[in-house]
Amino acid sequence: MTGSHYEPMPCATAGCAQNALTGAAHCWKHLEDKRAYAERVTPEGFADAWLAGVELSGRNLEGADLRRARLSGATLASANLRGANLRFAFLDGADLRGADLSGAKLEFAVLGDADVSGARFTEAKLQRSNLVGATGRGADFSGADLYYARPGKADLQGACFRNANIQRTIFRRANLQGADLRGAAGEANFENANLEGALR
Ligand SMILES: [Zn+2]
Repeated sequence: MTGSHYEPMPCATAGCAQNALTGAAHCWKHLEDKRAYAERVTPEGFADAWLAGVELSGRNLEGADLRRARLSGATLASANLRGANLRFAFLDGADLRGADLSGAKLEFAVLGDADVSGARFTEAKLQRSNLVGATGRGADFSGADLYYARPGKADLQGACFRNANIQRTIFRRANLQGADLRGAAGEANFENANLEGALR
């Protein structure tokens, strides 16, 4: 398959500054048969793939191998990503509202400015992930490992962190209003965070 995250090809449409999707000649915007392309993204894996902007909402990608994949701006709302391997993946600006990422491996993943509202991260591995500026209202991180994760400036109103590992998690300037942190273990950084009504 041509065009990995590391060797992306430019989109074949003249004047387009985007990279082509892995295995395609065009970027998502200029791809003619978007549906056929999306069908090809299977749990068997698209590790290292350039998948920026793809529309995969509601898809079953349970256990998918998406290590290091470039999913920036992708739509994965309500997708099933249970147990998926997303280590080092780029999910910045992605729409993950209501997605199920329980048990997913997200170490070092970039989720900056992503929308993970209502998403499930129960028992997920989020060590050293970047969640700066993410929106995660009502997201469920119960039992997740957030060691050294960076949800700075994130909007995590009403999110659940019950029994999560928050050792060295950097919640600087995050909005944790009404969040549930009961049973969360570890010394997190709550500098200038809003903890109004949060349960500790
Ligand atoms: Zn293009």
